[in-house]
Amino acid sequence: MANFGVYIQVPFCQTKCTYCNFHTGVVSPGRFAPYAAAVGREIGDHRPLLESAGVTMASAIGPQAQSVDTVYIGGGTPSLLEPELLTSMLDALRANFECSFTEVTLEADPETIDAEKAAQWAAAGFNRISFGTQSFVDEELKAAGRMHRREDIYRAVPILRTAGIRNISFDLIAGLPKQTHASWRTSLGEAMALSPEHISIYMMEIDEGSRLGLEVLQSGSRYSARDLPSEEAMAEFYELAQVELRAAGYIQYEISNWAKPGRESRHNLKYWRREPYLGFGAGAHSFSGTQRWANRHDAAAYVAAISEGKSAIDTVDTLTPALALEEEFFLGLRQLSGIDLGHIEHEYGVSLRETVGKLASRGMVEAHGNNLRLAADKLSVSSEIIVELLRSVQVAA
Ligand code: SF4
Repeated sequence: MANFGVYIQVPFCQTKCTYCNFHTGVVSPGRFAPYAAAVGREIGDHRPLLESAGVTMASAIGPQAQSVDTVYIGGGTPSLLEPELLTSMLDALRANFECSFTEVTLEADPETIDAEKAAQWAAAGFNRISFGTQSFVDEELKAAGRMHRREDIYRAVPILRTAGIRNISFDLIAGLPKQTHASWRTSLGEAMALSPEHISIYMMEIDEGSRLGLEVLQSGSRYSARDLPSEEAMAEFYELAQVELRAAGYIQYEISNWAKPGRESRHNLKYWRREPYLGFGAGAHSFSGTQRWANRHDAAAYVAAISEGKSAIDTVDTLTPALALEEEFFLGLRQLSGIDLGHIEHEYGVSLRETVGKLASRGMVEAHGNNLRLAADKLSVSSEIIVELLRSVQVAA
């Protein structure tokens, strides 16, 4: 029996971080319960709602009965919601799907965690907490508009451990305003010393849709745009992380992700392996293997549509072979284990060996039999390598 993942989006935050361009809002807590109820209803009515948007369950997750094995509740800051509301979402899944949960992740911000909540999360079935640590340096956290401080991280981790959470992931951002080589070393070192099972490192992306991005364009100073590290410094932060995390026993399995052996994110692996997942909530995306669809972003419009028994799906895209092949490279090659060249050539009727040979001779990729992967020291130029691979093949658009 094949399994699929479920992603639930909670698009609410306490404040807006300066660098954030996500579709999340700061709303009154009074809106949390109606939102959770809408998610529960969308899960309960998923068959007719999908069909009304032109997606059948069979085409969504395959013709055979399958079960949900991974769940990821992300945001936003889903840990803001009362635990009962998060529990109701998992209960709705259990009531409407065959479930064999192996990994149930909740995204949480350190300042939102207390012992009572953590115990309720564990009792509800959450067994993995993805923790928005971002930095261990208060000056950087403050400049980025984060709500938590270093001491919140040290307070929250033992609370989670006491509650029985055995799988914790930290997020760190390389490239925050005011970050220096010394402060990056501090954040990395403190993160590793707390021994989370998993660490994600994201390179700061400056988007003009964020307050910080706008300030970069306008040369302002309110959000510390002038204190952003250079691109060279960010590349050095990333390289330092690769070295230090390896030395501490973390295995890099994806461009942005490191895990202790066996602690890779099972849910996120589905995204890179192009395995099916259903998304619920405002802005949530789904993937069937042949189609991608997404709910509308606006949380109020989402709740209104679902409450009226209407689909909240905004876009449905059927992948052409050319787009699917692009995804195989852009998603698959993010994994350090690489992709199966034989499968790609057979599935898309393309021949890649000559281009792969040339790229390998320049040290850009490593090819062994049917396995193709990016060279470990070329991860930062993955897009350029993939574009070169794609240029060499012709697939029906
Ligand atoms: S907590 Fe995350 S989603 Fe919310 S504003 Fe900050 S970066 Fe954006």
